[in-house]
Amino acid sequence: MTNKHIPMLDLKSEYLYMKSDIDAAIAACLEHQQWILGPEVREFEEKIAEYIGVKHCIGTSSGTDALVLVLRALAIKTKGEEYFNRNDLIITTPFTFTATGDAILRAGATPLFVDIDPATYNIDLKQIRSCLESFPHGLSPIAHCPFRILGILPVHLYGRSCQMDEIMSIAHEYGLFVVEDCAQAFGTEWQKANGERQKVGSIGTAGCLSFFPSKNLGGFGDAGAITTNDNKLVGLIRMLIKHGGKDKYNVAHIGYNARLDTLHAAILLAKLKYVDEFNIRRQYIVQLYTEGLKDIPGIVLPLASCLSPIPNNSSHVFHQFTLRILNGKRDALQRYLKGSGIDSMIYYPVPLHKMKVFSGRCVLYGGQLVSSEIVVEEVLSLPVEPLYSEDLIIEVVKAIREYYIN
Ligand SMILES: *Cc1c(COP(=O)(O)O)cnc(C)c1O
Repeated sequence: MTNKHIPMLDLKSEYLYMKSDIDAAIAACLEHQQWILGPEVREFEEKIAEYIGVKHCIGTSSGTDALVLVLRALAIKTKGEEYFNRNDLIITTPFTFTATGDAILRAGATPLFVDIDPATYNIDLKQIRSCLESFPHGLSPIAHCPFRILGILPVHLYGRSCQMDEIMSIAHEYGLFVVEDCAQAFGTEWQKANGERQKVGSIGTAGCLSFFPSKNLGGFGDAGAITTNDNKLVGLIRMLIKHGGKDKYNVAHIGYNARLDTLHAAILLAKLKYVDEFNIRRQYIVQLYTEGLKDIPGIVLPLASCLSPIPNNSSHVFHQFTLRILNGKRDALQRYLKGSGIDSMIYYPVPLHKMKVFSGRCVLYGGQLVSSEIVVEEVLSLPVEPLYSEDLIIEVVKAIREYYIN
């Protein structure tokens, strides 16, 4: 036992590292007092649009709200209705944060869960294809309902891009929209077949970003953003974030109060300068882990993990560094690490289709989602705080090796 504690992240150290920039940004807001849609919001939206490589960015109150807003705007744009219907299906993964599937329900639609590829933890392309080909023969809990598949909501889980060329070509073939959940993938690049690189969030119909404090670009509270090249969607979303109208007395839609706060925009602008540097530090930490753990049988490391050459045509910003711990040893390893003062997390212990909110309100492609149900028992995420020293990471490696020796 040691008194040392190694948490997943050390946000206090990150703040101190950027303190002068952040303090100046907050001080500027205190001077101008324009708390709602102040000048920093527009500046942040412009910088994010440029960074991601799209025409438009709209700040939102959270990543979850970004997903709901995009889906609501798509319902209005494509159906002329405020919400989707329960027979409108949106293909997504059950191995994600609840908000992904919840946003589909809140927009009135039904999630159509398709299993993951356990090598990448992302939605399995072959299964999306066979799902679309075989539909409506998939098992359905809602009988006698004329389902229609309207879109795909891929999640770039842990910071690795989904196979976007293939997803876009499937979407094109079937006339589907694509909403990218980029909450864990700020800065991730997808390499197209012709070698050109694009940031995730610039490829689908729209991208949804989260600036939850623990995300790669994290704010001091809840915040999010939407990226898109679709002018019509932008017009609708700008109304929906402020009560549904062009102004307060000219309300056309069922809206929200879902704006990005000026103060959050100011802080995020200050932190944006550091995000590439921090993503590279995360990749370096992952290299240390990979070197230290690669020969342990019973541990499955993520696919090769550096920027160049990029494996699977995707860079990886390692929002999480997630191992699979085989042979039922995951929980015991987690307890052992805890005893050595090392935090680790299980993202995610329950697939969405096993949660009460979704059972009865979702459709499972093929009736069961085998890989998702296996990996929830095996995954373990280790600390990847960008400011951790080499020595600290090596301590984590040592503790894991000790566990396997004993
Ligand atoms: C964090 C997260 C969200 C939600 O973002 P919030 O800003 O917390 O609302 C959505 N999807 C995924 C995959 C996430 O990790």
